[in-house]
Amino acid sequence: MIHEIAPHVLDNQFKIQDPKSNDYCLVYNGSKTLLKKEGNSYVIPTVAEILSLSGKDIADFEGHYLLSIDDRAFFLQAVPEDFVTPEGYEFMGNRAFRNMSPVERMGGATSAHIAHWESLNKFCGKCGNVTIRGDKERSIICPKCGNIVYPRISPVVIVAVRNGDKLLMAHNIDNPNPRLFLISGFVEIGESLEQAAHREVMEEAGLKIKNLKYFGSQPWAFSDSLIAGWTAELDGDDTIHRQEAELSEAKWVKREDIPEYETDVSISCCLIENFRRGFTL
Ligand SMILES: [Zn+2]
Repeated sequence: MIHEIAPHVLDNQFKIQDPKSNDYCLVYNGSKTLLKKEGNSYVIPTVAEILSLSGKDIADFEGHYLLSIDDRAFFLQAVPEDFVTPEGYEFMGNRAFRNMSPVERMGGATSAHIAHWESLNKFCGKCGNVTIRGDKERSIICPKCGNIVYPRISPVVIVAVRNGDKLLMAHNIDNPNPRLFLISGFVEIGESLEQAAHREVMEEAGLKIKNLKYFGSQPWAFSDSLIAGWTAELDGDDTIHRQEAELSEAKWVKREDIPEYETDVSISCCLIENFRRGFTL
């Protein structure tokens, strides 16, 4: 999964640190990150590469430290939405990180999650004053009214529902990837992860489940989330009532008809592979 980057180690403890020229620099415009083109792929530019665009010295670097993986730090430089794209670069959505090396994928996506949170809190939600970044912990502070905003993570549940040798698979209308995945959704305020799992399967597929078991979790910066994965068994009637507003497809797929899924990025693929390979769910 995306966070499993051993032997590399993520250090996302808050600190204030000076940049080195070969550290990564995310130039973020509020929704997209400036990435450097290398042939047909994209990489995260270094601090030196970003400085060279403006001819500035590292002492004048305007970014701030976010996190490190091993001895390379990730810095953020927030820019306005109308920031002109330099030659050889392109502003890309978070999905671009998914095609990068494990270190750039995890560091880039996590940094973009923090960058997105910062970009949404430039002004205090309580009094409207301009905010500042906290200097003792990862926070955003309103100097006028004292309101403190901490990073936002939206919990999600994903459920692998088994019916004998068949798995409930679905395609979300908003997912540009045409492959079938699993039932998932955001946890509502006031419900437990378990209640959310039962509710999502009922809402999206019209099915009751039993023997709900925790599988594992993963950070999922692409939707500002933490995803909790679950396995479950069908309870009763196997007739699927697809929620058409959410899913373009939902069906039972036999184990032998499920194609192989890569398990290096998402818990969804790990859950599917776990079933496909015949492990006990
Ligand atoms: Zn305020």
